[in-house]
Amino acid sequence: MSINTRLVLFLTLGVGAVMLIAIFLSLRQREAALESALSDELRAHAVTLQIALGESYQSGRTADAQRLVDLLHENSRVYGVFLFDENGDLRSLSQIVTAAEFRQPPELKMVLERGEPVEFVRLIENRKFLSIILPIKLADEKRGAVEIVKPLALIENDIARARLNWLSTTLLLLATIFLLVFIVLRQDLSRPIQALLVGARTLGRGDLSHRVAVKDSHDELAQLAAEFNRMAENLAEQRSAAQIQTEIRLNLEKELRHSERLASVGKLAGGIAHELGAPLNVIDARAEQLLDGSNVTVEKRIKNLTIIRTQCARITHVVRQLLNLARPYNIQFEEIRIGDLIKSALEGFEGNKTIKIEFEANDDLTILGDSDFLRQVFFNIFHNAFHAMSAGGALKIETSKTGRDNKNFVVVEISDTGTGIAPDNLERIFDPFYTTKDIGEGTGLGLSVSRRIVEEHGGVIEASNNAADGASFKIYLPANKEI
Ligand code: ADP
Repeated sequence: MSINTRLVLFLTLGVGAVMLIAIFLSLRQREAALESALSDELRAHAVTLQIALGESYQSGRTADAQRLVDLLHENSRVYGVFLFDENGDLRSLSQIVTAAEFRQPPELKMVLERGEPVEFVRLIENRKFLSIILPIKLADEKRGAVEIVKPLALIENDIARARLNWLSTTLLLLATIFLLVFIVLRQDLSRPIQALLVGARTLGRGDLSHRVAVKDSHDELAQLAAEFNRMAENLAEQRSAAQIQTEIRLNLEKELRHSERLASVGKLAGGIAHELGAPLNVIDARAEQLLDGSNVTVEKRIKNLTIIRTQCARITHVVRQLLNLARPYNIQFEEIRIGDLIKSALEGFEGNKTIKIEFEANDDLTILGDSDFLRQVFFNIFHNAFHAMSAGGALKIETSKTGRDNKNFVVVEISDTGTGIAPDNLERIFDPFYTTKDIGEGTGLGLSVSRRIVEEHGGVIEASNNAADGASFKIYLPANKEI
């Protein structure tokens, strides 16, 4: 229910309730006043009649008494007049009520005994009447009584009319109040609130150009609307300032990325030039020796040709790494025992006497993957670890199983005791071309290629520094079966 409706109802009901109480009290007062007027009138008639009848009876003019009763009855406000003798028997009555219909009121006995008037309300033919019984002197020692009865309907009609008047006035007043309150609230409360609501919603949707109409009056709602517009203005200014800032930052980032890319490309070009240039020089020198020396021994020729082949292999390696980064992978999935794969990747490193390798293969852990691609991953990581431990150290490889994102994975954790990775660089080591190695020693492609291979297998690769020294790499590969 809206505030408007609630206020209208509340005010109308409140005013209505107060008016009803006022009407009730005033009706009660009117009722009491009418009752007392009727009672006064009745008593005045009764006393007059008491005196007149007393005199008529005492002077033996009983016919006068009956005429008096009849005359009084002609008064339209008198229902009936009854005359009782000393025994309480009906001696005379106005014509409208027959003796058979008439019933002696119980109060009569009290009046005859005590000689005091009694006023009471009595029922005749299911109608209410105000009645008064007065003692009259019939003879010297004889006390009779006279009763005058007036219908209470006389005042009931007045009361009903008064009620109707009050009710119609109340209804008219209530309708007027309801209408006035409704119009005023709708104009001064409901409409401004509705406009503010629409404004807040529009602002919430991001349209900061929306403004609320401000009324000329200086009431609280007009002030609120003005404040709302000021807030929208501020927000719009802040947004445009933020947009300008973002644009500046984006441009800066773009420039930075561009220069970083240029630097990376330069570094890569330098690395490639060195990586390819050095073996090409060697090949050139050895080929020249083979061409020139007619008296070159067979051993020397074999040696030169072997060196040429080794250098070609070096060139092929660099080219393959570059290709690996660019081409789409055609991964051939097969069941692989992770222990066997690690062992085969370790083969080239086992001759190093300064680095201790700790690894125990677990034959139960198998994955689905391409062993050629994955061997490259482990080879790269081992190669980096050995490079970081050029002064010697230990390489520890542990395999285990774990759950991650509701899937089962085989985890290979490779930790070394080498130089570790500067915390700022942890984020960057997987970027292509990122390397801290000297030109010719690294191209910065190994980890980026490795991450791509692992992700193509549905796995994850993470790097961190050890608490003591060195770095750790964790490779998560989806397990072959539920393990
Ligand atoms: P590259 O080996 O050609 O430099 P990578 O992508 O394999 O390229 O490695 C990127 C960089 O990550 C390395 O230059 C090195 O700075 C850092 N890095 C990788 N592994 C390790 C490690 N085990 N210890 C210290 N630094 C490492």
